[in-house]
Amino acid sequence: MTYFDHNATTPVRPEVVAAMRDALERLHGNPSSAHADGQRARAAIERARDQVAALVGAAPAAVVFTSGGTEGDHLALAGGARAIAARDGRRRIAISAIEHHAVHGAAELLEADGFAVTHVPVDHNGRVDPAAVDALPGDTAVLAVMLANNETGVLEPVADIAARARARGIRVHCDAVQAAGKVAIDARALGADYLVISAHKFGGPKGAGALVLADGAPLEALQRGSVQERGRRAGTENVPGIVGLGVAAEHAARDLDAESARLLALRERLEQGLRAAIPDAVVHAADAPRLPNTTCVSFPGARSDTLLMALDARGFEVSAGAACASGAVEPSAVMRAMGVPPAIATSALRLSTGRTTTAADVDALLAALAAVVGPAARRAGVA
Ligand code: PLP
Repeated sequence: MTYFDHNATTPVRPEVVAAMRDALERLHGNPSSAHADGQRARAAIERARDQVAALVGAAPAAVVFTSGGTEGDHLALAGGARAIAARDGRRRIAISAIEHHAVHGAAELLEADGFAVTHVPVDHNGRVDPAAVDALPGDTAVLAVMLANNETGVLEPVADIAARARARGIRVHCDAVQAAGKVAIDARALGADYLVISAHKFGGPKGAGALVLADGAPLEALQRGSVQERGRRAGTENVPGIVGLGVAAEHAARDLDAESARLLALRERLEQGLRAAIPDAVVHAADAPRLPNTTCVSFPGARSDTLLMALDARGFEVSAGAACASGAVEPSAVMRAMGVPPAIATSALRLSTGRTTTAADVDALLAALAAVVGPAARRAGVA
């Protein structure tokens, strides 16, 4: 199979596998134990903290290890909003319309807790207008805007948004799960109070990630018990997962410049090939700043699920850019927020490349797409 679904998850790097195996075999102490075995496990965690901090330009003490992006988004948004509400009574959060389900889920929890939720619209490219910050209600505690969208790859103007939010005393949560390892991140320059990453999106294991806090960012722990992670996230640490996250972060940082340039060249090859072979294909947010590895493209007349299955049968793994439920195809929430007409949105595919993708893979996918798109559109009765 040829894998074009790196935004869903990435193959684990061999160096990560080796480091995790070593951690499983050697680091059996509890990192909270004072004896030698415990302290060896503790040292491995602190090394990973340095590696993660270096990837995102933060201080090691700012890093809180989590079980991945979903937990990080919950800890940041719910833990942040609750801490702020306890301080000054503000009980509103704002989230952009194109956030991941994990952020929407955390917002739903807060809503059930009596918080108000403001939804911030996006333009046709799926970008938030930084001026929208000035219009947020005065009782807004936290605003969530992701760094890169998982479906379209579109990059949000988070630094501008954070600067405006700071001027109004609003904290900013930035889900950087899709951006980490693909574009350079400097947490201090970005100015977000809460920043979340997930190891399995850049060559690390599933089930490991981090929340990176700005100095003084309010946080109420959601998991309580012992005092791991300085009381910010109780629970015995996932030592092999954290070690794997750290090694993946170190390699991602080392390879970032070369790999992002290589992926950008592959994206251009793919999109030029698409335009040549399938002239009515619509590349979403084609002119907006985007991740170098992501192409979200619609094939008017076809259905996302039909295309996905036809490609799968030919050995290519991609994602549908539309949601399929009980036989029907619905536009994704991101496409709806961008105002994409339903007929276009329901024919979207997400093609995402990564470390293992080659130019030959791109050419083979183009040939497969050219072969399946026409018949898929005819089956839908359009072409
Ligand atoms: N945020 C974004 C933007 C994502 O793409 C994902 C995963 O697809 C998540 C959060 C959730 O991360 P995890 O799978 O580590 O829980």
